[in-house]
Amino acid sequence: MSMPTYLGMPPFPDAAREAVADTRLRRNLARATGTIRERRAAAVAELADWDELRECAKQIKDHTLGHLGHYLRMLEERVTAAGGVVHWARDAAEANAIVTRLVRETGETEVVKVKSMATQEIGLNEALAEAGIAAVETDLAELIVQLGDDRPSHLLVPAIHRNRAEIREIFRRAMPSAPADLTDDPAALAEAARRHLRARFLAARVAVSGANFAVAETGTVLVVESEGNGRMCLTLPETLITVMGIEKVLPTARDLEVFLQVLPRSSTAERMNPYTSAWTGVTPGDGPRAFHLVLLDNGRTATLADAVGRQALRCIRCSACLNVCPVYARAGGHAYGSPYPGPIGAILSPQLRGLGSDVDASLPFASSLCGACYEVCPVAIDIPEVLVHLRGKAPKKPSERLAMGLAGAALASPRRLAAAQFAAGRSRRAVRRLRAPRAWTDTRDVPVPPAQSFRAWWKANRDRT
Ligand code: SF4
Repeated sequence: MSMPTYLGMPPFPDAAREAVADTRLRRNLARATGTIRERRAAAVAELADWDELRECAKQIKDHTLGHLGHYLRMLEERVTAAGGVVHWARDAAEANAIVTRLVRETGETEVVKVKSMATQEIGLNEALAEAGIAAVETDLAELIVQLGDDRPSHLLVPAIHRNRAEIREIFRRAMPSAPADLTDDPAALAEAARRHLRARFLAARVAVSGANFAVAETGTVLVVESEGNGRMCLTLPETLITVMGIEKVLPTARDLEVFLQVLPRSSTAERMNPYTSAWTGVTPGDGPRAFHLVLLDNGRTATLADAVGRQALRCIRCSACLNVCPVYARAGGHAYGSPYPGPIGAILSPQLRGLGSDVDASLPFASSLCGACYEVCPVAIDIPEVLVHLRGKAPKKPSERLAMGLAGAALASPRRLAAAQFAAGRSRRAVRRLRAPRAWTDTRDVPVPPAQSFRAWWKANRDRT
């Protein structure tokens, strides 16, 4: 397995059943996703050339994925020439071992972290903890999740399932420096987090980050963020270790013009990111003295081999698809059993991890196929197309296989279809009593076949019309 399934997570339908019964969670989610959704729509509507930008982003990503080996080798060469060190990790275990070794070599037992999906994907914090190294999350929402001993439930706002009162309780319980009279006023909560983190930033000698993009032609790596915590982590410590999925590389610096427009508008509904940090290797007297770039595969090469599924690798983790998804809005992020929730999680996790577990086999079905995710995706990933494709590959129950086999055989031949319609018309009473599969017929009427099929009616009446 290339990526650990969240331990103990049940398949999506079971996890979602529990989540939809939680009215507080649904209220928190509805409020938060509704606000982000409207703001994103307004930010996108400001750009007259949004469709062209979207198409351009899609084409840049497809071109890069089509020549991935070439651009990754170029990136490695340029990063190395600029004084960085590039490491290649086949899977989560290799990536964790590399990062753990690098931190150990510094002699430190604590690292500060910039929010990173790649490190969540590989379970880096847990791996570091096993090696006696504490990883301190510095993004506010990630900090809330970490202090609450919780799991992230959104790509961009990992604590979206928490409201202000819950956050205050978490801070009071797990943040020693939080004032005793801490209120749930957002400014007071942010101030408590700021004080807590500042001491960590100033003491940190090692930082771990992810990367939003890396430019092959220059060897430049970029992180975009809103809080400034990333800038602190990327500039103050002596050693910087960046874990980056191999699909994040872009050919040229000019390509950033497109992505630095579509990403902030799609994610935080901002015209530009408040903090965009870019660095190329190491610069004497400025920033970290050692830079390590860990290039992570972890199922991406296998995903790239799938002609339909590979479009998931275009994802820039903006989270717009989560905010418009009616299933995500009700089930929340934890039900997806992976760090990648929502529509993108439903197509990415089963490809990175394979369809072998119950959780992953259930994820392609966690959608109504309404298509809202495709409409908002800034890199035009046809998520419904990939969902249907993965449903076809997911392991089936014997009864499903039999039913689909029979339907396929009947639909493949006009004569067999006519015979099946005739037989269905003759067994109308039995169909009326049909209750299986229950999950479907409990909430829907089974249509009763007509006594006479259209074909039979046409044959009998054709001469009279
Ligand atoms: S699939 Fe598209 S909309 Fe969803 S997070 Fe990725 S880039 Fe954003």
